[in-house]
Amino acid sequence: MAKVRNFLFHRVSPNRDLLWDPMDVKLFELCLAYISRNFDIITIEDIPNIKKDRNNYATISFDDGYKDNIDYALPILEKYNIKASFYIVTNCIDFNTPTWTYILDYLFTHTLCQSIQLNFDFLPHTMRDVSFKQINSKIEYAKKLKPILKTLNHSQRSKILKEISLAFNDVELPKIMMNWDDLRKLYTLGHNIGSHTVTHSMLGTMDHEDDIRYELTTSRKRIKEELGFFPNSISYPIGSYNQKVIDNSKKVGYTIGIAVKQDIYQSTKDNIFEIPRIELYNESWLKTYLRINHTLEIIKQVFRYK
Ligand SMILES: [Zn+2]
Repeated sequence: MAKVRNFLFHRVSPNRDLLWDPMDVKLFELCLAYISRNFDIITIEDIPNIKKDRNNYATISFDDGYKDNIDYALPILEKYNIKASFYIVTNCIDFNTPTWTYILDYLFTHTLCQSIQLNFDFLPHTMRDVSFKQINSKIEYAKKLKPILKTLNHSQRSKILKEISLAFNDVELPKIMMNWDDLRKLYTLGHNIGSHTVTHSMLGTMDHEDDIRYELTTSRKRIKEELGFFPNSISYPIGSYNQKVIDNSKKVGYTIGIAVKQDIYQSTKDNIFEIPRIELYNESWLKTYLRINHTLEIIKQVFRYK
């Protein structure tokens, strides 16, 4: 049985962020130095062809398509001669707008508005009409709202996001995404590019199959138009998928589906459309080291069942 540890990164930058902190460049380099010393690095797209008796494979991937990937991560990938996979949200690349998850954080940290009214019955009462006394209360509110949004269905979430964008229209969004030339450069250097949908929608929360199909096929077509090939792999935004998403991914031509789950891929038991990835964050090296070696999950399990 082959085992693969798939490591997931998002932003890599020396700049700090209050709500969603990018991984510091030095920590990123420590990760790659350690992973390249201790594992055989392949790409996620190589997984269908791996030798069955090897158990120390690792892959490196990045979701969303942030510009800092090419500015800060690429030089370190090249230094260690590592090929990675980049999963992109095609509307974010086309319009240079961040994903809705990023926008949400950014609006709450940058708006000068002192209140928000979200009169939706699917939100808890205490979240519907709130005034913010200090900057911290806005951040606290955003921290509470984000996990709630992830539990809603697609149309409910879209309504709330629209309302927040309208309310906080004093904020100009930052230009932090890669463009198609950046992606052509990565592809020419031997890295893989895959789909992360058109709008970063949580596919597993979409009721209508047409909406799922749109996210899967339109992103695929945009990548073909710009880069000249249909991507093999689909990375489900926020790791959200279900059987309907898997079936449709197969139907439209993907051969690999990628999730987010702090677990190791095992070729004999895991579905190629549910490849788990271990997300690494801007934390201490000790915690990162434990995540890389999967020890943190084992420690958590021991305490859970004690
Ligand atoms: Zn994402």
